[in-house]
Amino acid sequence: MNAYDNALRQLEKAAKLIKLDKEVVARLSAPEKVAMASLPVKMDDGSLQIFQGYRVQYNSARGPYKGGIRFHPQVDLDEVKALAFWMAIKCAVVDIPMGGGKGGVVVNPKSLSQSELEKLARTWIRSFRDIVGPEKDIPAPDVYTNPQIMAWMADEYSQLVGKPSLGVVTGKPLEFGGSKGRESATAMGGFYILQEAVKEQNLEPKKLKVAIQGFGNAGSIMAKLLYDAGYKVVALADSKGMIYNSRGFNIDKVIEHKRTKKSIRTFPGAKKITTEEFFALKIDVLVPAALENQITKDNAEDIQAGIIVELANGPTTPEADDILYENKVVVIPDVLANAGGVTVSYFEWLQNTSHNYWSEEEVDKELRERMIPAWQAISQAAEEYKIDLRTAAFIVALDRLAKAIKIKN
Ligand code: NAD
Repeated sequence: MNAYDNALRQLEKAAKLIKLDKEVVARLSAPEKVAMASLPVKMDDGSLQIFQGYRVQYNSARGPYKGGIRFHPQVDLDEVKALAFWMAIKCAVVDIPMGGGKGGVVVNPKSLSQSELEKLARTWIRSFRDIVGPEKDIPAPDVYTNPQIMAWMADEYSQLVGKPSLGVVTGKPLEFGGSKGRESATAMGGFYILQEAVKEQNLEPKKLKVAIQGFGNAGSIMAKLLYDAGYKVVALADSKGMIYNSRGFNIDKVIEHKRTKKSIRTFPGAKKITTEEFFALKIDVLVPAALENQITKDNAEDIQAGIIVELANGPTTPEADDILYENKVVVIPDVLANAGGVTVSYFEWLQNTSHNYWSEEEVDKELRERMIPAWQAISQAAEEYKIDLRTAAFIVALDRLAKAIKIKN
């Protein structure tokens, strides 16, 4: 399963439905620029290790490229291209004036010391210094990158250009140009949309059972928001294993356990379950918040949840999408469900470039004002075309992207 093939199939499906201009399809079927670099890092033991780094600048019709940097052993060019393409769609979905980009490094960051990680982060920004910048291309955190890594990158870039230039990356720590509400933004945006879907279906949060795959920035904060809102979070997963408790987990305690023990797998009183069992659980809401290609033709049929909230990017393959649609499962697609992250990244960038910082209330209000209209536009398109929400989201985004592309031709 290739994430980029999946992304192009999603594009093709929506483009066909709205008879999208062929030139626009062609422009969106390949990235504008692909950059690769060998990143040399002097390790703590004195040896030299070379890591493969990428930056894909997919489309800039609506503004500077925007998108995270992933540090993961399975990163490859096609994955980065897919993620960059989805960023272009996502920014158009929430109507922010940014294009799509993404970066990555093939590395297992868990095997690096803090100083090795810092060297890698600084080397990444040095290697891509000519193509990134506050007006050109603004990276952010993604899987296994975090505010500390963003701070090293912003600092390195500022030194390179000889002036404070914090708007070069977003997702920074609050003390170093970060925005209030950025850490929780991805989950918060998904939470707002889920609440809308729940309301629309006349469901009661307190009666809903949830399973969440991934317990990092997106997954753990979503778990906490749902727990606080009365949902019963009965199953959790991270890279080390999956756990289940029919009565629901106390998420505050699980977060504390993960902080101290580095995994949720050993959480006391939890039953360990397999991946197959996880995806076949009798639940109401499933939240993939880890990696791509988790819901496939092999497990889509087993899914009991009525709603899927894709906090992860690309967790569902096109074949699985068809099965879920047939089974009347409502899939809130990644390009909408996790768009809160890039939305508040955009707010952070606005604050950095205007030197005017917002309160948490302002950030939250502005986030809602982007997320809810996006949900309404997409629901409306889904109804109008009698299609799934992903294709509807693509239709909304492609219309905006096409206008920006055509106006320059
Ligand atoms: P993170 O590094 O904070 O957390 C990743 C989590 O996934 C960890 O808990 C890890 O243990 C788990 N994981 C990794 N492999 C797994 C596997 N095979 N099975 C189960 N769990 C596994 O990353 P994140 O920022 O939370 O990103 C998660 C997803 O959300 C990614 O798809 C990312 O692209 C997407 N996303 C994140 C943001 C953001 O702002 N952080 C924004 C939009 C989308």
